[in-house]
Amino acid sequence: MIQAAQPTSSADGITWDLNDLYTGVNDPRITSDLASALERARRFEAAYRGRIDVPDGPDPGLLLEATVESEGLYEQMDRPLVYAHLLHAAKTDDPPRGALLSRTREQRTVINKHLIFFDLEWLKLDDEPARRVLADARLAKYRHYLENKRIYRPHVLSEPEEKILDDKAITGRSAFVRLFDETVSTMRFPFEHDDKTEMLSMQQINAKLYDPDRSVRRDAAAGWTKGLQDNARLLAYLFNTVVLDHKIDCELRRYDSPIAPRNLANEITQATVDALMTAAERHHATVQRYYRLKARLLKLDQLYDYDRYAPLFSDMPACDWPTARRLVEESYQAFSPKAGAVIREFFDRRWIDAALREGKRGGAFSSSAVPSAHPYILMNYTDKLRDVMTLAHELGHGLHQYLSRGVGYLQCDTPLTTAEMASVFGEMLTFRRLQEVYPDPRTRLAMLCSKIEDGFATVFRQVVLTRFEQAMHRTRREEGELPTERLNELWLAANRPMHGDVVQLTDGYGWWWSYIGHFIHVPFYCYAYAFGELLVLALVQKYKEEGEAFVPKYLDLLAAGGSDAPHVLLGRLGVDVNDPGFWELGLRLLGEMVSQAEELAAQL
Ligand SMILES: [Zn+2]
Repeated sequence: MIQAAQPTSSADGITWDLNDLYTGVNDPRITSDLASALERARRFEAAYRGRIDVPDGPDPGLLLEATVESEGLYEQMDRPLVYAHLLHAAKTDDPPRGALLSRTREQRTVINKHLIFFDLEWLKLDDEPARRVLADARLAKYRHYLENKRIYRPHVLSEPEEKILDDKAITGRSAFVRLFDETVSTMRFPFEHDDKTEMLSMQQINAKLYDPDRSVRRDAAAGWTKGLQDNARLLAYLFNTVVLDHKIDCELRRYDSPIAPRNLANEITQATVDALMTAAERHHATVQRYYRLKARLLKLDQLYDYDRYAPLFSDMPACDWPTARRLVEESYQAFSPKAGAVIREFFDRRWIDAALREGKRGGAFSSSAVPSAHPYILMNYTDKLRDVMTLAHELGHGLHQYLSRGVGYLQCDTPLTTAEMASVFGEMLTFRRLQEVYPDPRTRLAMLCSKIEDGFATVFRQVVLTRFEQAMHRTRREEGELPTERLNELWLAANRPMHGDVVQLTDGYGWWWSYIGHFIHVPFYCYAYAFGELLVLALVQKYKEEGEAFVPKYLDLLAAGGSDAPHVLLGRLGVDVNDPGFWELGLRLLGEMVSQAEELAAQL
């Protein structure tokens, strides 16, 4: 979204205190920490190189010692980088901060060179001795971490082969990805409206799809299509090339399907992905029911693709920072006093930067920083109800990161599929609180509809994207190079079941696959969003059913971080991700939300 002027904010002066990491760009401890980390890395290499990939496997005690040492070392070398990253995000136009970021990045690379051998040796070790070593009780804490490092073993080629692939990637795949990024980011879209034509950036024309005036949205969609058509030949060629490259890669690395490498990285089986996607597809009626309601609220007989983002109401109440803080704290506190206490710490000890400032990074994130410190949150608070949800979202990440510090630096991060668990769960808690404090049905309906639309974007749309991607890879294999028209057909075919006849897809919409970066950057990235969202909705449903009994189990789940595979950790909550019935829970909740919206709309 483009904002004309710097919006006002009641979060003035809400800035973070980074002194728990370092005291400033010139803190001498940054240099000394990096220098001693380099020394430590050299000692690490001298002590363990050649001792991991040995015929009977390394001594478990030695492997434990090395793993523990590497954990401390990674944390030491990352601390300056994390600090530089945060400092830079808070003020990106300050050259000394940019310089510190490059310096710490470069230093980290230098130090890391001494540690790479460890993973390579561990990967090269045969399965039999590896299994024996991992069975040793002393390694229990790090078992998942060490096991997980070896999952790519069947797909790794010989060292010279890997080196050639790596070297050639710069002028191969990476070159095409970069060309795609540069093409898309410099594309201009003709916006013809009221007898004027403006050339707009993607961001600018995207904002017009949210305009309350239908003719603006329609013309924006036409301009968007025109911009894509002007670049279609190149974009189709880039898609074909990247898809073919992925096919070659999968064959060389002995993957049995184009989606297999992504499933492996996500620690998830194809059966789970199938269960998730088919469950979502059984609920397309929910999507269509909602869009029928939206058409009624917008007083339109027929919705077209360019009406999907039309705003329902423009006069939403504002929410100042102190109120947002109170509402979010109360939501977490009501769920669990323990969670509430952690959330209060974020505010009291100034771990949040919410003020609007020139040069500050846009958007929002929660950085886990390092376990010996604590997470930090950055956001740009503009007094909108949506910002309250963003605050609740980032604090959910913050809570997850804070609680999982206990499992240590090597295992605190979760894979993509569960990375958004605590954030979206926290949003749901706060969403319910907001529904209580704003009794006006219009406000409640607006909040509910925006929550439903977010849910659709992360569940149903991502499944559609994945279906398109599957079809594209399959058709490329069967039919050879795919012309634009064929890709358009596949795109519309993947989109139609979700929209039915409730949202009419125009011919122009057929071109709208061609700017989506996920297809180019990380094949099959999208289903993880659907996984994460439906998982949370199902957990919310479980919380409703189990009440207080759910709370400690959920907090334990967060505290476990990434110390085991998601299906194992979730299994402790009685969740079976391979059971299609489990996915029904979350889908049913989305259906209930649509019913609530219908009821609220009837009260207007
Ligand atoms: Zn998030």
